[in-house]
Amino acid sequence: MPNETLRHKGLRNKLVKELAAKGITDSKVLEAMNNVPRHLFMNQSLDPVIAYMDTAMDIGRMQTISRPFTVAFQTQLLDIGKKESVLEVGTGSGYQTAVLSYMKANVYTIERQQELFLSAKSLLHTLGYKAKCFFADGYQGLSAFAPFDRILVTCGAPQIPDALIQQLKVGGTMVIPIGEKQQTMYKIIKKSENSFEKLNFGDCKFVPMVEEKEIHF
Ligand code: SAH
Repeated sequence: MPNETLRHKGLRNKLVKELAAKGITDSKVLEAMNNVPRHLFMNQSLDPVIAYMDTAMDIGRMQTISRPFTVAFQTQLLDIGKKESVLEVGTGSGYQTAVLSYMKANVYTIERQQELFLSAKSLLHTLGYKAKCFFADGYQGLSAFAPFDRILVTCGAPQIPDALIQQLKVGGTMVIPIGEKQQTMYKIIKKSENSFEKLNFGDCKFVPMVEEKEIHF
C-alpha cells in the first residue's frame, strides 16, 4: 500500500479505540476502520495526526469527508452482511466506500461532482477496493442494479427520495440523514412494497443532497 507506515497504523488503532469508547460496538465496523488508510483519502500534505482525529475535513469542491464517528455510526446502523449489495449516495472522498468494501459488501456508489467521482474512483481502484463508482444523481438511484439490500445516504436529504425507497429490497435497510440545514439520522426498514418503519437516531449535520438540476460544471 502506498505511503502507509507503522505510525499510520498506530494512529488508526488509537482512533478505533476512541470510537469504541464513544459507543461503536460492531467489531466488523471497528476492524474495517482499523484497516482502511483514511489519510490516503485526504490531502496528502496533512499531518497524519489530523487525518486520524475524530473530525470531518474539507476535501475540496465545498465537500467534506465525514467524521470517523459518523462513518462508524452509519455503517453500524446499516448492519451489513458479506456479499450484500449496498448503494451509497455521496462517494465524496471514497473513504466510506472503502470501509463498506473492506466489509465485503458489493458496493455501488454515486457522486454528482465529477472531480470527486474521478479521484475517488481512481484511488479506490489503486488500493484494490472493488466498489463500482458512478457519476450520477443520487436522487435517481441506480435502477439497473436494483434492488439493493442496503442503501446509505451520506448527504442531508430534504426527504426520503422516492427512487431510493423503491430500489430497496423488501426487508432491506436504508440509513439516511433527513433535513435541510440540520438533519436527523433515520434507519428505514422496508416492511413491504408499500410500507416502511422509520427509526430515529438523533441529530446530525451533513452537506446537502443536491438535485441534478442544480449541477453547474
Ligand atoms: N461518504 C463521503 C462523504 C461525502 S460528503 C466520504 O466518506 O467522504 C457527501 C457527498 O455527497 C459530497 O461529495 C456531495 O458532492 C455528494 N452529493 C450531494 N448530492 C448528491 C446527489 N444528488 N447525488 C450524488 N452525490 C451527491
